Amino acid sequence: MELLKEDQPYFENIKVITLMTADRFGLELKEVVPSVLPRKGKVQHFLGWCSSSGTIKISVRAVENKKWAKARNPDRDILLTVAHELAHLKYMDHGPQHTTLTKSIFNYLFYRKEPNGK
Ligand SMILES: [Zn+2]
Repeated sequence: MELLKEDQPYFENIKVITLMTADRFGLELKEVVPSVLPRKGKVQHFLGWCSSSGTIKISVRAVENKKWAKARNPDRDILLTVAHELAHLKYMDHGPQHTTLTKSIFNYLFYRKEPNGK
C-alpha cells in the first residue's frame, strides 16, 4: 500500500519536524519513512516504530480491513508517536528515562517548550 496522495505533503511535514527535533535533542536519526502497516496495541506503538539503526517509521493513517481509514490520525497522537520513537534513539526500552525523554520531546513539539538546560 502506498500513502494516499493527500497524506504525502502531511507526511513530508512530519518528516521535517522529526528530523529537526532529533537535531535539537542531539539524537542520531538516520531516516524517517512512512509506515503503511496496520498495527495493534497502544497508540504510540501502532503509530510508529523505531529500529536500533536509527530508522523511524510513522503511520499517519490507520489501515482498517486492508483499506485506509477515513480520517487521518490526530496530530496530537502523531506528535506523541514522534516523541516516543525519537526517545527510542537514546533508550530502546520503556524505562523511566525513556518516559522522561518522551515527555520532554512532546512538550517541545506540542507546546513549544524548550528542553531543560538547553
Ligand atoms: Zn516504544
